[in-house]
Amino acid sequence: MEPEAGVETHCPYCALQCGMHVVPKGAGFEVVPRDFPTNRGALCRKGWTAAELLSSPERLTTPLLRARKGGALEPASWRDALARIAQGIRDVQRAHGRAALGLFGGGGLTNETAYMLGKFARVVLRTPHIDYNGRFCMASAAIANQKAFGIDRGLPFPIAELARTEMILLIGANPAETMPPLMQYFEAQKKAGGRLIVVDPRRTLTAEQATLHLQLTPGTDAALANGLLHVAIRDRLIDRDFIEARTRGFEAVQHRVASYWPDRVERISGVPAKRIVEAAHLFAEAASAITLTARGAEQQHQGVNNVLAFINLALALGKAGKPACGFGCITGQGNGQGGREHGQKSDQLPGYRKLSDPDDRAQLAAFWGVSEAALPGPGLPALELFERLGHPEGVRALLVMGSNPMVSVPDAQRLRDRLLALDLLVVADLFLSETAELADVVLPAAQWAECEGTMTNLEGRVIFRGRAKLPPPEVRSDLQILQLIAAELGEPRSIADVPERAFQELCRASAGGAADYAGLSYPRLRAEQGVFWPCPSDGHPGTPELFRERFATPDGRARFHAVEHSGPAEDVDDDYPFYLTTGRVLAQYQSGTQTRRVASLCSAEPEPFVELHPQLAATLGIAERDWVELRTRRSRLRVRARLTHSIRYDTLFVPFHWGGAGRINSLTHAAVDPQSKIPEFKVCAVALARATNDG
Ligand code: SF4
Repeated sequence: MEPEAGVETHCPYCALQCGMHVVPKGAGFEVVPRDFPTNRGALCRKGWTAAELLSSPERLTTPLLRARKGGALEPASWRDALARIAQGIRDVQRAHGRAALGLFGGGGLTNETAYMLGKFARVVLRTPHIDYNGRFCMASAAIANQKAFGIDRGLPFPIAELARTEMILLIGANPAETMPPLMQYFEAQKKAGGRLIVVDPRRTLTAEQATLHLQLTPGTDAALANGLLHVAIRDRLIDRDFIEARTRGFEAVQHRVASYWPDRVERISGVPAKRIVEAAHLFAEAASAITLTARGAEQQHQGVNNVLAFINLALALGKAGKPACGFGCITGQGNGQGGREHGQKSDQLPGYRKLSDPDDRAQLAAFWGVSEAALPGPGLPALELFERLGHPEGVRALLVMGSNPMVSVPDAQRLRDRLLALDLLVVADLFLSETAELADVVLPAAQWAECEGTMTNLEGRVIFRGRAKLPPPEVRSDLQILQLIAAELGEPRSIADVPERAFQELCRASAGGAADYAGLSYPRLRAEQGVFWPCPSDGHPGTPELFRERFATPDGRARFHAVEHSGPAEDVDDDYPFYLTTGRVLAQYQSGTQTRRVASLCSAEPEPFVELHPQLAATLGIAERDWVELRTRRSRLRVRARLTHSIRYDTLFVPFHWGGAGRINSLTHAAVDPQSKIPEFKVCAVALARATNDG
């Protein structure tokens, strides 16, 4: 039976996970915002229009099968599709071994699916090779948080703290466009006399509201952070008592930033020295301050170091682990937080346990009822996994669930060739995404309002998403899909396909881990407005604030890390004289698989474009809406020009939500951070010219 009244649920898109009701309306459904701690009744236009996805005529409603390579995808029965998958998996295992199987998940999958996907890889397929698209999103922040604080939770405090702090330092984030309801906390903070410093190469909608905007050259975040700390030390603004009592490693950082004097940092970053001094004083002299990074600083080949450099600043000024003070990273994808906690990451077991740790392995092996020796070791991170697709000794069969890498990976044309070289590509999705178009088998998956599940939002708050309707008859939930494949392979009992049972198992599996969900249950999440992890037992209240007394390191002290600025992996030169940076726009979301199928969002942002400064446009003879060509060492892209004073003269911005001829990720490059393996989406060298003919 489909419920007649509205169902309490959350938005299908970003990590704010705004609360909403999905209510029957005519033959379809509509979204009604509800009062939830993250959105307090507000939604952005993506959330308002989310119900359109439920009745989209483009929805996949039956499995699709490609009878032979190069042939067309044709509708098929589940029986035939599953038989083809099982046969393909067995053939690959027989010819190439278990490690020739790969899986690729997503940061939008529920906690239950992320957990079961990891278990499916390690217990059913027994392959090490599983990773997910959070590798492109939160990986640098996750490593930096672990190194500095001993635990990775995007925000170690509720977002309501933003309204209570005197100063917000925001680096590489544009929530006014990517998470508009979050801005109510910024507005409340401003109304109470608070100040905002924004670090961004673009004068975004968010930067326009700032007390101070530091418009740095792309790829120079660590230099700027070191420069700010240099000034703070020079001008005796640091908090010696805090450093002494709650941290370790300051001396090395003090030594490292000694060479980052303001004039030098101005030459590196383009931020005027006097602005660096002003920002350091504003930040240091505030009684309380919160520092937030996001993809702008993190999606770089020095992404981990960028984050660590800003953590150093926050720690040295004593702006962490205290009321209205803290350091956090703004998670992007809907379940970017939970999706990285429970096992779909290449090196990880549930509850943030590590595949490389003998105790963790033994514990999970016992829990899953397999021998420790049967558990594979850590697998390859996303880009290395993709590089090995189709190679004789590499991965020969791949299952993609809830991700569209053909739009979201850097240097994406190479991925197409790799996917086509596979013996078997299976994609489970709502729509025929650019990745699904290349698959041998496409499985129609249920979407957000068609199955129950839990998500963990940007605060570390685990929330329950209710089901508003049943999926179409031939559509299956992600859990059902995994269970069906497992059953076809002769392992029917390994995968729970009922969400509540899967969640109960996940909670038990996480017990004792850093991300401990053991005290959580569906009834509890429904009754309370989500619960913050860690929550190790039934009676435990959850943990909204993580670091009030101590940090999560063995000795309770946060760690400084001395970092050096190293510049972008691909700097500008005479042939490619401008910086290309990519990002999101208000009316689209991630790879656009969903939002490009919502009419009002498409009419608001129908196609990609390039933002450039009017002076640069005049120099190159480019007018507003002219067709221009961007060219990097990888590829070319024709888009229309948008002229704006909000961007630096030397920088071009292109949103990344489109595939095919509009795919900017054909041009981005595959340099990755050596620690997090996150690609450097935020900066590469590009040439620009007016296109020679229109269209
Ligand atoms: Fe959905 Fe994010 Fe918009 Fe909220 S801010 S409505 S969660 S897309």
